[in-house]
Amino acid sequence: MSAGTRAAAGATGRHAKGAAGAAEVPWHTLHGEDAKARLQAQRSGLAQAEAERRLLTHGRNALAAARRRGPLVRLLLQFHNVLLYVMMVSAVITAALGHWLDTGVLLAAVVVNALIGFVQEGRAEAAMEAIRDLLAPHALVLRDGERREIDAAELVPGDVVLLAAGDRVPADLRLLNAHALRVDESALTGESLPVEKSLVASAHDAPLAEREGMAYSGTLVVHGQAEGLVVHTGAATELGRINRLVGGVAALATPLLRQIGRFGQLLAAAIVALAAATFALGVLWRGHAASDMFLMVVALAASAIPEGLPAVMTITLALGVQRMARRRAIVRRLPAVEALGSVTVICSDKTGTLTRNEMTVQRLVCGAHVYAVGGLGYAPVGTIERDGHAADPRANLALRMALHTGLLCNDAGLRIDEGTWRIDGDPTEGALLVLAAKAGLDGAVAATWRRLDTLPFDSVHRLMATCHEAPDGERWVLLKGAPEQVLAHCAGELRAHGTHALDVDWWRRMANDTAAQGLRVLALACRRVVPGEPPLAWETLGHGFEMAGLAGIIDPPRLEATEAVRDCHHAGVRVKMITGDHAETARAVGAQLGIGAGKPAVTGAEIALMDDAALRRIAWEVDVFARASPEHKLRLVKALQAHGEVVAMTGDGVNDAPALKCADVGVAMGGKGTEAAKEASAIVLADDNFATLAAAVREGRAVYDNIRKFILFMLPTNGGEALVVVAAILFELTLPLTAAQVLWINMVTSATLGLALAFEPAEPGIMNRPPRPPGERLLSGFFAWRVVFVSALMMAATMGLFIAELAIGTPLDTARTMAVNAVVAAEMFYLLNSRFIMEPAFSRQQRPGNPVVWVTIAGCAVLQIAFTHAPWLQQVFGSTDLSLAQWGHVLAVGAAVFVAAEIEKAVIRAAGRGPGGWRAASA
Ligand code: ATP
Repeated sequence: MSAGTRAAAGATGRHAKGAAGAAEVPWHTLHGEDAKARLQAQRSGLAQAEAERRLLTHGRNALAAARRRGPLVRLLLQFHNVLLYVMMVSAVITAALGHWLDTGVLLAAVVVNALIGFVQEGRAEAAMEAIRDLLAPHALVLRDGERREIDAAELVPGDVVLLAAGDRVPADLRLLNAHALRVDESALTGESLPVEKSLVASAHDAPLAEREGMAYSGTLVVHGQAEGLVVHTGAATELGRINRLVGGVAALATPLLRQIGRFGQLLAAAIVALAAATFALGVLWRGHAASDMFLMVVALAASAIPEGLPAVMTITLALGVQRMARRRAIVRRLPAVEALGSVTVICSDKTGTLTRNEMTVQRLVCGAHVYAVGGLGYAPVGTIERDGHAADPRANLALRMALHTGLLCNDAGLRIDEGTWRIDGDPTEGALLVLAAKAGLDGAVAATWRRLDTLPFDSVHRLMATCHEAPDGERWVLLKGAPEQVLAHCAGELRAHGTHALDVDWWRRMANDTAAQGLRVLALACRRVVPGEPPLAWETLGHGFEMAGLAGIIDPPRLEATEAVRDCHHAGVRVKMITGDHAETARAVGAQLGIGAGKPAVTGAEIALMDDAALRRIAWEVDVFARASPEHKLRLVKALQAHGEVVAMTGDGVNDAPALKCADVGVAMGGKGTEAAKEASAIVLADDNFATLAAAVREGRAVYDNIRKFILFMLPTNGGEALVVVAAILFELTLPLTAAQVLWINMVTSATLGLALAFEPAEPGIMNRPPRPPGERLLSGFFAWRVVFVSALMMAATMGLFIAELAIGTPLDTARTMAVNAVVAAEMFYLLNSRFIMEPAFSRQQRPGNPVVWVTIAGCAVLQIAFTHAPWLQQVFGSTDLSLAQWGHVLAVGAAVFVAAEIEKAVIRAAGRGPGGWRAASA
């Protein structure tokens, strides 16, 4: 059962008014019955029509979204930036000097830069906003007397909500029924220890933390089960009053982004210092006019400072997150995107993640016989037969009690919905309902066995028990769970016509035999209630049960998971299966999926006996871990990390939270996962599918690649432009670019061309590389070399063209126009190089290309044509028309840069010396 239940963010104007009346009632002082009467509610829940009516008066059960900065503030904040400060001060100075044209260009550059930042930031935020909606919570309610999973925002006062361990309480509730309920209320009270809940009414002035009979919206159920009556929703809840939002997606900042931000600031400071030095050099040594030199160094600083860096990084990350969301992997904490790219081990659950979680009982071991069960899926069609004869439960005590235990010790529901049979709740239990239905036992029979008490299933005991009153008035305790656990409570076994002494060895053999076929095994047992027996508790369950049968349940592996496991292995990522299931089942299913084939499985009990050193070795060597509890998962994560691995770990239960938090990438299941697990993890898989996780690893690598690609594009193009000017001053050459022209180039290319790289899809061979070494620096060895090489290349190409043109008598203005176009053309061509860090820019397998690259190149081309031929731009920037031949020269320079950059890649590929992953891949 997964009733994910977190109050979502969303506007609810009407709500506060609707609930105002109800807000007066001190619900914590009332008993459940009184509360129900006040809200005109029934134990069986509201009727759907009534709930819809109440939704209109009370509004949606959601909190108003946190107030965000308005667009004006966001726009103004764009001006808070070193580069724009430099340009704005310069605009003031040029204005004071009377250089109005330059002032105009500078101001235009300031506005363009701020606008680009504004639009980019909006894009990134919109991407994240869409993802927040995907995490909207659900709640399990009773409507029209049936359990239904609904959007938590649709809860209304009077609804009856069902809670289980791991759920987030979806609204303020008056408890109607509670079983060992413990709730973590730290979100409201700050108290970190979970509090016990009961049904008692509290004193009027009891503080929130002492109101035992209430469960408040936003708190987490850490243990037990309960039913509660919704008394307040949305803004009227305690959480709404203190108006704190729960959970959600983290802000757009990650260690990598912060590191890059700091790097950008340092670089900006260095560039400003360098510009000052160039100014001093030009004025004092070369004797240039101070006013000309001033404008030149401002332009220089503007072109060299990588102002687009943080914005484009953020967009790259946000786009990656969006792509992952499209593949149904929802990122809750952004650093996980980076970490995903370096994951070396994935520890995955089995049930539902690697398998389909569509369970069918195929084998029933009962009363010394083995029965085959026909049919597949949830349709209750098929027979239970032995040696070709259908079995008759009425004539066979063991069979009858086994089927009854499966039917009654069960919280799932089976229903037909538009011709398709569906399960509500746990599919394992659903399979047992289908089994019973195949023998003619259904909900109507279940209703005659009144349930008196429940011990819900938990992954530590691996058992579930219920207490019932049979139609004949006799009381029974029914037990189901993992065979070894059930057997530990049994003294006898049922046969067709009576009870026998328990043959433990036979049952163990049958359990192993069933599991070795890849079937999930569940044991079923029962006993009569002893007079004066206390309510059900694990400690007092006793050893007087009689074994009724073993159910062998098939859960086919997901086809796509097999493929994804293979992909991971190619990508140098180990896949380990950690499951609560039987060792033989785990091994058989693992072998089908290509995990740990031919190797033994290690069980939780064995892990418990190992010290940390032994576990470190085993954690690395073994791929299948069975009968593992959440605490074993935690130890395994730590052991793998001690081994130097970067670990992604999946989980769904409330007890998985510590392991999920400890893993480098905690991954929760969106479907069957509890809210507690989601809260603890960085990524939520909306479809619970292992293949989705493998796809997320691929996207994580792509994001990191794109960030590197952008840096490798931006730094040398900025550097090349700056070098052109510095070289001209140093070597006393005529300046190939005027200050205004440098600013133009900056406006046209900065953060427009490079931004296209954020849209690059993953490279085809991305999953054939080993994982990126964790802690690898972004700008180490190879990258520094490439930045220097390409900067020099750009400078040489532009200067070469300019000097050659002057030499053949081209007028200065025309030569400068050609130089400007050459810089932009070289950047356009280099953008094509940058799409692949090491691979050739064009090859057959790299289609289809990234259309954004071509759109931005076309956009820049249009702007350059305007710059060259539009009269008013000619006036502002001093550009002149170019002949076709001159355009040809410009393009030749760009193409030369392209070819040189491709040759560099080829040489490095041949030498096998790329960055981390590539180096190892080619080694
Ligand atoms: P994972 O999802 O980690 O691969 P799992 O879902 O197979 O593991 P659990 O759900 O912890 O692991 O189940 C462990 C064992 O507990 C099962 O093999 C089965 O014998 C028993 N079991 C599972 N579900 C129930 C249930 N609803 N009632 C009683 N016993 C159960």
